[in-house]
Amino acid sequence: MRKPDRQRLGYLAVLAASFLLALVAGWLGTPIDNYAYDWMFRHQPAAAWEPQSALLVADEASLTELGGMRGLRGALARALEHTAAAGPKAVAIDIVLAEEGDAADDAALEAALAKTSNLALSCELLPGERWQLPIERFRRRAAALGHIHGDPGPLDGVSRVAPLEKAGARQRYWALALEAFRLSQGEAQIEESPQDLRVGATLIPAIREHSRALRIRYLPPAGEGLSAVPRLTFKQLHDHPGLAARFRGKTVFVGITAQSAARDRLLTPYSHGFYMAGVEIHANVFETLARGRFLVPAPEAAAVALCLGLAAAGVLIFVLRAGWQAYALAGLLLVAAHVLPYVFFLRDLVFPYFAPVSSAWLATVSAGAYQFVTVRRRLRRAEAERARYQEAVHFVSHEMRTPLTAIQGSSDLMRRYKLSEDKRQEIAERISSESRRLARMIETFLSVERLSAGEMELKQEVFPARELVEACIERARPLAERKQIRIDTEPLAEALLTGDRELMEYAVYNLLTNAVKYSPPETLVTVRSNRDDGRLRISVQDQGIGMDQDEVKKVFQKFYRTRRAEASGEKGTGIGLSIVEQIVTHHGGNIEVTSQPERGSCFTLVLPAQVASRAGSE
Ligand code: ADP
Repeated sequence: MRKPDRQRLGYLAVLAASFLLALVAGWLGTPIDNYAYDWMFRHQPAAAWEPQSALLVADEASLTELGGMRGLRGALARALEHTAAAGPKAVAIDIVLAEEGDAADDAALEAALAKTSNLALSCELLPGERWQLPIERFRRRAAALGHIHGDPGPLDGVSRVAPLEKAGARQRYWALALEAFRLSQGEAQIEESPQDLRVGATLIPAIREHSRALRIRYLPPAGEGLSAVPRLTFKQLHDHPGLAARFRGKTVFVGITAQSAARDRLLTPYSHGFYMAGVEIHANVFETLARGRFLVPAPEAAAVALCLGLAAAGVLIFVLRAGWQAYALAGLLLVAAHVLPYVFFLRDLVFPYFAPVSSAWLATVSAGAYQFVTVRRRLRRAEAERARYQEAVHFVSHEMRTPLTAIQGSSDLMRRYKLSEDKRQEIAERISSESRRLARMIETFLSVERLSAGEMELKQEVFPARELVEACIERARPLAERKQIRIDTEPLAEALLTGDRELMEYAVYNLLTNAVKYSPPETLVTVRSNRDDGRLRISVQDQGIGMDQDEVKKVFQKFYRTRRAEASGEKGTGIGLSIVEQIVTHHGGNIEVTSQPERGSCFTLVLPAQVASRAGSE
């Protein structure tokens, strides 16, 4: 596979992983989504709105004054009398009048209810799938019955949505607020489709499958230019019946807010830990409907597309750009990921918060990390190439100088002096052999470089080991003779090696010249080769300067020379053995060294070999 393809695949993998992780995280991120939703809710610019509803509540003071819950029904009757007289649009009572009470109070209440037009009474689905309805004498005075169930968030108890429909025991009721809204609009019915509800001109996005859940647009706390839902308590109305005039033209929600009696108190995005009584929540649902500006959840496909888009953008940034440009763009993308849900929120579209943000983060961070790693790898590769280039320069300047000097010297001789034909012939031979040696050295060096860089396949020649070793010994002999060093061979094993003959010759020759170079005059170099378990061991043993044990480990490093070798006055570059080791490794073998200072060293090449057949050795 080509490298850019691999890299592209890498980025694709990063993208897929981030996206999947973000999806999984999205499911786990509900509390964060909720927190973000509440935050956005509180920080949206508040639009001025004149509330269409009003509250008539039994607070703590009213209950005390009116004789507690027992006195409630009579008090309710009196309050309703005043309210009905004021001419409200509709009245919704958030108290389930399911039991008979004191006969006189009930009669008074019935009379008050009868005077109330557009009256919605509440009902409740009890555990055990049983609807609790108002008793008959009250029920027949009502224009509608509506349920009073809320939908507190399962994790934090915050009431963000209202189920506009509640079904159970083969009965279905609309929410009290919805019925009150219908009555206030003078509509006879609520039209329904799977996706939404319609009350007159108002289309309410509330999906049947989700219990017709509607996000409640709570009115912000009253402040500058912002009015809260007007509120009267039973006691205030009792003390000042004239206040009922405030209910004119409003839809009045009647209920209990006293902490000791109201059991349906819930948290809201605004409440900061304070609970809101059910009746107030109903009024807020009503206001949501009355304003007709609905917060709808973004379709799932859009949410997934947003996550995918952000993740793809995060990855693309690092595919197309690098360095500070990429980081700056990634920063912008992350900001966008955090801000987008809010922008959509302001356009009444509720996106999950955690999933897009986490996919953007995951994608940018992992694509950035991936790019960082690949750039570093490329840098390291470039550095390695530079190092190789430097070695090549080093090699050329050191190793090649000797043969070049010889060639230069010889040709100068021929140019300057009149020489006998024999002498000319001899010098010409030397020039020729030195230049061949030079060519061989260059060839060897380049071959090893190309092999290591993976640019060249190892040749697959089959050649007899013994001949190769003998040829090397013959080449090294003149060098040895100059120091009166004898090269002895023990019987050499017959075996076939497979690979590059020239390279292998370089390896063996190098061991031999090292043995000669690093031995004092009049010593012995012994060459052995024997077969051992399918491998051929070619060893060159000398009686030379040897080396310490910690030096043994380092002699294959490029340019490393031992202290003794430096002191010996023998020229060298410390590159030969590193090339030998590479050659042997490329041939599937290895090299072993044993050495003792001042006693001598033994270098052994261990190579895979076949038994020599006659045909092979010829
Ligand atoms: P060079 O001989 O050019 O220095 P090599 O790579 O062939 O480079 O060898 C590296 C070093 O290993 C030598 O400089 C020397 O210190 C040590 N060395 C190699 N062969 C022998 C040997 N036979 N005896 C002692 N030292 C050796």
